Amino acid sequence: MSLSLFDLTGRVAIVTGGNGGIGLGMARGLASAGASVVLAARDAAKLADAAAELSAGGGRARTVSVDVTDETSVRRMVQAALDGFGRVDVLVANAGINMRKPPQDFSLDEWRAVQEVNLTGTFLCAREVYPAMKRAGGGKIITVGSMASLMGVPFAAPYSAAKGGVLQLTKSLASAWAADNIQVNAVLPGFIDTELTRAARQQVAGLHDRVVARTPSGRWGRPQDLAGVAVFLASAASDFVTGVGIPVDGGYAAQI
Ligand code: NDP
Repeated sequence: MSLSLFDLTGRVAIVTGGNGGIGLGMARGLASAGASVVLAARDAAKLADAAAELSAGGGRARTVSVDVTDETSVRRMVQAALDGFGRVDVLVANAGINMRKPPQDFSLDEWRAVQEVNLTGTFLCAREVYPAMKRAGGGKIITVGSMASLMGVPFAAPYSAAKGGVLQLTKSLASAWAADNIQVNAVLPGFIDTELTRAARQQVAGLHDRVVARTPSGRWGRPQDLAGVAVFLASAASDFVTGVGIPVDGGYAAQI
């Protein structure tokens, strides 16, 4: 099998939430496979640092400010990628937030905030890249679910509802857009060491050790653990793979 199946030279990828954590881990993978990457998020300083890192490593990177809950902002993000690089071949819809407390303590605004970023944001980004991908004859959309797409989370009910929704949205988009040669798949990360989970480890007693004990690979994941799956799902290697969720979890979901 030729490695050119994984070659992303000439491809353009938008990565939302690409200024840190898992998004940057995936962006590093895409850039190293040859893609030009548009990093999109809200924090401009973090965006600039992330783009500088990719450029220093020989990658082609641009940044764009986006709030994925805002339709106009998402539309501008896609236009900025088209203006900057002329095409959009890959979307990694990775932006996400979490809030942790018992279900009965969530306000309606908190519930909505978690749905808006994780689920509605994923929908908006996918909807806005669709016309360019259809025009170009195809594309790749990678959504980011979670173990919480598969399992309940007693301390994060809105998040698990949203991430379950992301997986179902992924399957729906995949079946709707397969005829346009657009493949849509979800990555389901296990517990990965990022800013998001650093907060979780402070808020949820015993979480760090429970994850290590339950994970067959015996460790937390790192953002770079997501680089390879991003390249696979962004490249020709996955042209007949669509509508699936791929756990990247060190075996966490493989055992009871
Ligand atoms: P981080 O907090 O490091 O990253 C979250 C990213 O989302 C940031 O880049 C943030 O950038 C961006 N973001 C948040 N809100 C918005 C918004 N409204 N508009 C645009 N961008 C936004 O966490 P992770 O890297 O851990 O999380 C990345 C994804 O992976 C999320 O979807 C998360 O749910 C998922 N995930 C994480 C797991 C883990 O163990 N870490 C496990 C399973 C899934 P900024 O604030 O600058 O906008």
